[in-house]
Amino acid sequence: MSSKGNYAKQLEQLIDDFKVRGEHPRILLHACCAPCSSYCLEYLREYFDITLFYYNPNITMADEYHKRVAEAERLIGEYNRQVEEQDFEGMNSDENARMIELLEGIYNPSDYINAIKGLESCPEGGERCTKCFELRLEESARIAKEKGYDYFTTTLTISPMKDADRLNLIGQKMGEKYGVKFLPSDFKKKNGYKRSIELSHKFGLYRQDFCGCAFSKAEREKQKQEKQLEEQLKQN
Ligand code: SF4
Repeated sequence: MSSKGNYAKQLEQLIDDFKVRGEHPRILLHACCAPCSSYCLEYLREYFDITLFYYNPNITMADEYHKRVAEAERLIGEYNRQVEEQDFEGMNSDENARMIELLEGIYNPSDYINAIKGLESCPEGGERCTKCFELRLEESARIAKEKGYDYFTTTLTISPMKDADRLNLIGQKMGEKYGVKFLPSDFKKKNGYKRSIELSHKFGLYRQDFCGCAFSKAEREKQKQEKQLEEQLKQN
């Protein structure tokens, strides 16, 4: 397994190499939600043939899960319309942008519940998240290999809340296990996170305020209540 590194720089270097060789590798891009996908797709679609892989059994609330898949599908529709009409108004894209496909993984929340057993009360960012990353990246690697993709990676590195080193190391490990290349990334760099917020506004995307699992939702609710209480106390 490779050690920690500047993953954004490594990705830039790989893209430069593809450009020189005139290659457009096929990539399976694991995605957690439409807002995080917005920048990653804008950035990558000129250099790769992308299939967005929606695999998130960690979102155990079915209505939340389906809402996020629908938004990912709607975003891809918007991006593909731009390519068809060659209309890239307000986008950092040009005529080299390529069409994007969507692939939905198996939605079985018990896969997540089993993977994180015993770690339910870990705070966000802890060991529960490591298991959650492993589950989603392992399935991404497995599908990428099975379907003959050149690379796989994940949009998760765009989040300032998530550890890019941990994600890249897990991605590399799963790539080695299944014999498919993991594309290094740290999408939050180069103002990627900021751009994802701009694009979310542009397309009116649903932006949830919690990561995905019921535990992260409860944590966020608790934080909001504490903040509310603090503000009330300040006013009194
Ligand atoms: S907080 Fe996010 S990354 Fe961590 S376990 Fe929950 S859904 Fe997975």
